[in-house]
Amino acid sequence: MQKITCPNCQVEMDVSEAASHTVQCYRNSTKCRICNKVIQKDKKKEHLARWRNNENLIQAVLDDHEEQVSLHFDHGMDCNMQFKSENPQPRNKLQVPDVKN
Ligand SMILES: [Zn+2]
Ligand SMILES: [Zn+2]
Repeated sequence: MQKITCPNCQVEMDVSEAASHTVQCYRNSTKCRICNKVIQKDKKKEHLARWRNNENLIQAVLDDHEEQVSLHFDHGMDCNMQFKSENPQPRNKLQVPDVKN
């Protein structure tokens, strides 16, 4: 059976499935504005979660992948989380006195 690669999601499938897949695929997928990767709409959260994962970020830093590191922040990584597990610095909590007027 001949295989074909979906131009949208790059998934390989039988030629017989290609037409119906492609229609569905374009309808259900979206392109990430940040990294230009095609993702299924229902996988959008997963996609963002992957880029907001602290361990993935640390791995990218350790591997010295600058582009990957900045992609994490582009996808909304919380900067305060950045090196939490590596470099535990006590953050000075601002004590707000409970003063009324
Ligand atoms: Zn597809
Ligand atoms: Zn993305």
